[in-house]
Amino acid sequence: MATALSLSFPQPDIGLITFDLPGKGANILSRSVLDELAGLLDQVEKRKDLAGLVVKSGKPGTFIAGADIREFLASLGAPKSDVVAMCRRGQQLFQRLSNGPFVSMAAIDGICVGGGAELAVWCDRRVMSDNPKSEIGFPEVKLGLYPGWGGTSRAPRLVGLANALEMITAGETVDARAAMTMGLVSDVVPADKLLDAAIGVIRAEKQTGQYLMDRERWSGPLVEEPTELMFLGATASAMIQQETKGNYPAPMAALELMLETCQLPAEEALQREAEGMAQLFGSPVNAALINVFFLTDRNKRDTGLDKANVAAATIKSAAVIGSGIMGSGIAAATLKSEVPIALTDANVDALAKGAKQVLEEAAYNRKTKGPDLAKTLKLAPLLSVTHRDEEIAAADLVIEAIIEKEEPKKELYARLEPLLRPEAILASNTSTIPITKLAAGLKRPERFCGIHFFNPVRRMKLVEVIRGAKTSDETIATAVAFAKRIGKSPIVVGDGPGFLVNRLLFPYMNEAIELLCDGASIKDIDRAATAFGMPMGPITLYDLVGLDTAVYAGLTMAKAFPDRIVSSPLVPAMVKQGRLGQKSGMGFFSYQNKKGRAEDDPAVEQLITTYRRDTRKFSRDELINRLFLPMLLEATRMLEEKIVRDVRDVDLGLIFGLGFPPFQGGLLYWADRIGAAKLLEMIKPLEPLGPRFQPTPLLREMAAKGRQFYPQGGAA
Ligand code: NAD
Repeated sequence: MATALSLSFPQPDIGLITFDLPGKGANILSRSVLDELAGLLDQVEKRKDLAGLVVKSGKPGTFIAGADIREFLASLGAPKSDVVAMCRRGQQLFQRLSNGPFVSMAAIDGICVGGGAELAVWCDRRVMSDNPKSEIGFPEVKLGLYPGWGGTSRAPRLVGLANALEMITAGETVDARAAMTMGLVSDVVPADKLLDAAIGVIRAEKQTGQYLMDRERWSGPLVEEPTELMFLGATASAMIQQETKGNYPAPMAALELMLETCQLPAEEALQREAEGMAQLFGSPVNAALINVFFLTDRNKRDTGLDKANVAAATIKSAAVIGSGIMGSGIAAATLKSEVPIALTDANVDALAKGAKQVLEEAAYNRKTKGPDLAKTLKLAPLLSVTHRDEEIAAADLVIEAIIEKEEPKKELYARLEPLLRPEAILASNTSTIPITKLAAGLKRPERFCGIHFFNPVRRMKLVEVIRGAKTSDETIATAVAFAKRIGKSPIVVGDGPGFLVNRLLFPYMNEAIELLCDGASIKDIDRAATAFGMPMGPITLYDLVGLDTAVYAGLTMAKAFPDRIVSSPLVPAMVKQGRLGQKSGMGFFSYQNKKGRAEDDPAVEQLITTYRRDTRKFSRDELINRLFLPMLLEATRMLEEKIVRDVRDVDLGLIFGLGFPPFQGGLLYWADRIGAAKLLEMIKPLEPLGPRFQPTPLLREMAAKGRQFYPQGGAA
């Protein structure tokens, strides 16, 4: 069997372990790889003539992408004692890297995260390539864990407690320059000089013996001033609380652990780390976040089709028509990925404004918080701003993002289609108009689909690729590949009102208004949603989206699903009073203060009172059930109608498109945790409220057969 690790000797006294997992794009630390490592360490430890041992990757641009999460998933139900043992085994194996009769060295080119970063910090020294892909970090908190193979005790000893806390509790990576500044790496060099640099550092260490003094020092406690510890603890804890709102226990657990264990000898710290991991591993939040990991992992590999023999065409140039909010965002994302793009708009001013925004957004530098001159010069020649249809029609992919009205869109297609090359794809960013309807007059409806971006495009990763009745598989595959190329996470959705995300948003938004009319307060409704983990409550969301937009979109949904959408007169009444939400300075809240902050508005209370049917009080659980059960029922209808290909698309779509809380694992994942039979019990008392609470045949069948949405209890 091909092995992942190989041992060679580039110089007589230098051992080199090369990690190259056969048949994979990235190196992953699985149990079998750890066993291989143990075997190689057995060999090199016997060699008393070695000055150094270098660990490097055989895959250029990627060092180690972490531990094998599939093995985590398989061990989720393991007893706590097994988790402790699992951590201790990993720690003791890596520890051998800093106890051997040689200077150990990690030569890092590319991503070095999780278990890979732990292996690296156990080495005596590290060197890193200046490849922009080189980064090092501990993203374990994103899986509801913290580093458990020694990272929490080793990292503070190398870079100081403050730096280590920031890296581990935020789960962000740092690049080579930042790693060098904090003393995590000894040298940063071009990738092809990495091995030479590693050997150079080894030789210098051998001469000074500094690494031996560090080994001695790092086996003891970290000396920290008690006041410094208190200060660090208080600031980090406030930041974590603000970030996690108490929904993600791992960062706080890491903080408490590290504050305690930095004062202990390393050996005791390691034991405490392993014991603490046993509390997090297998917890509901850990399991939910592992589900989200596999949702995104599957999405990365998904071609958008269930068959394998359809090839996606490469989009070499694109065009966007309509340079408003969405069109300029789509063009910027495309340009940023260095795909040549032509932009047009019927309105000259809109085009000038849009083009400026496209370039600024595409060349934005996150570090300097402004446009990057070098990037601007590189990208500007790829953007062409035009009024000529011929220039637009020369692109491989043309995305229409004009006004949301059927007729102008169809007129545009009739004018443009004859100019397009036969293999070009035409797509609409429409959020409400059925794709099949828009394709009605086209000569080549098979080359037409929806590519629905979300607002703001620069922040929202989700893209819905919508298949019309005649859209071809090649068109879908190409649209999916293009969306990925520009950094988005596409899901393929069947043609239907609201597609996926908006169709599931409506029952939830609708129910918030029904709850207001049934006596619940704005605050209680919003707080129930945010306690469930939503980034904001539905009432606040109304104000953000705009109440006029909500009324207009609500009409479309009410027309499509007249029995399920209750069109309350409350929102139209607010629109009539000029209460359009944040944009008009007042909606459900008033924004007429200096900072434009949301404030309660007694006039709204008065208006709601006129539409109130009841004044009863609701518990938080009742509010959560009222808001999320209609959403869930609608999702089961979409599965029945086969609007989505897979339950995982529903969950990913809601997490990336609506901010559905990752710690809940996804809507259907959440439902699986409750179970179909229990869900029916929860729905029963709500059934008299109307058909929107009518259990669907799918849910009833699942309850009768004891089935779950996810086939094996998780997304993997
Ligand atoms: P917008 O009003 O900001 O921009 C539309 C632009 O299209 C305007 O600049 C207008 O001058 C131009 N235009 C109108 N008719 C045209 C024509 N015939 N030819 C060329 N240009 C024309 O609108 P937007 O918010 O960017 O929405 C555009 C599309 O994206 C709509 O279909 C909308 O439903 C969809 N969408 C919007 C959002 C959102 O949140 N705004 C989200 C997803 C999808």
